[in-house]
Amino acid sequence: MNILVCIKQVPDTTEIKIDPKTNTLIREGVESIINPFDLYAIEEAIRLKEQFGGKVTAISMGPPQVESALRESIAIGVDEILLLTDRKFAGADTWATSLTLAAAIRKIDEYDIILFGQQAIDGDTAQVGPGVAAHLGIPQTGFVKKIEEVKDSRIILQRLMEDGYDRIDMPLPAVITVVKEINEPRLPSLRGKRNAKKAELRTRTAADLNLDENEIGLNGSPTQVIKIFSPDLQKDGEKYELPTEELVEILYNKLKELGK
Ligand SMILES: Cc1cc2nc3c(=O)[nH]c(=O)nc-3n(C[C@H](O)[C@H](O)[C@H](O)COP(=O)(O)OP(=O)(O)OC[C@H]3O[C@@H](n4cnc5c(N)ncnc54)[C@H](O)[C@@H]3O)c2cc1C
Repeated sequence: MNILVCIKQVPDTTEIKIDPKTNTLIREGVESIINPFDLYAIEEAIRLKEQFGGKVTAISMGPPQVESALRESIAIGVDEILLLTDRKFAGADTWATSLTLAAAIRKIDEYDIILFGQQAIDGDTAQVGPGVAAHLGIPQTGFVKKIEEVKDSRIILQRLMEDGYDRIDMPLPAVITVVKEINEPRLPSLRGKRNAKKAELRTRTAADLNLDENEIGLNGSPTQVIKIFSPDLQKDGEKYELPTEELVEILYNKLKELGK
């Protein structure tokens, strides 16, 4: 099986700092990690390889520093790594990000399945996985909590729903995004860490992918993040200790006020 897993490097902090001039995240000096949801995607990719044989390739789009996240994926058990890096990719929204990833995947001869994490902890849109499937014209299922069976180029999945799960039978190749209920990610092994040091890092630029600079990065992004700001947390809330009927009355009037 030829398994691809897309991973994103994100700031290792919930204390997101914003550059007031460029309205983008301040990433310099902030520890970076593999997006936590992608650790479940990496784990599931390795388990598919252990069950069906083949190889796992991790792909990421980002600045050169993303190399460390890709090498960490080798230490966990991924076989090959591919970094899509070019200043022209900067400022990409989910459309441009998924278009760029799809262009790189189209140049990979054969692939059976592409795994994504449920979402990234910084952008939080959960759009890139479905976006890649759309650009490649292949089926996709999100929020997968269990892979039941892979046979005859079909996969049977369980998609997490509020009240249980849907069982889905889908042809391969396909995209799936996984939730944290799907497995328990393993830690990097000593042997893996050795492999990570010597693993070959393949890179691709916009030119390598025959991508026009108007369809990638900020230029190719229909969505522009206009302003990112941390909302002011109001500390002085109003507290009432009254009989329920009176509380309902007060709440009703407050909501009415807000609705004006
Ligand atoms: C605070 C903030 C808000 C943003 N809001 C928006 C917005 O509303 N709309 C918009 O279009 N863009 C938005 N962006 C930009 C967006 O973060 C980037 O487009 C990003 O590359 C992908 O979107 P995401 O972070 O939401 O990832 P998601 O779609 O949540 O990621 C889902 C999965 O896709 C894979 N993936 C994501 N990015 C990459 C990558 N670079 N390389 C490889 N695999 C990847 C991972 O498996 C990840 O788990 C925002 C960015 C920030 C920091």
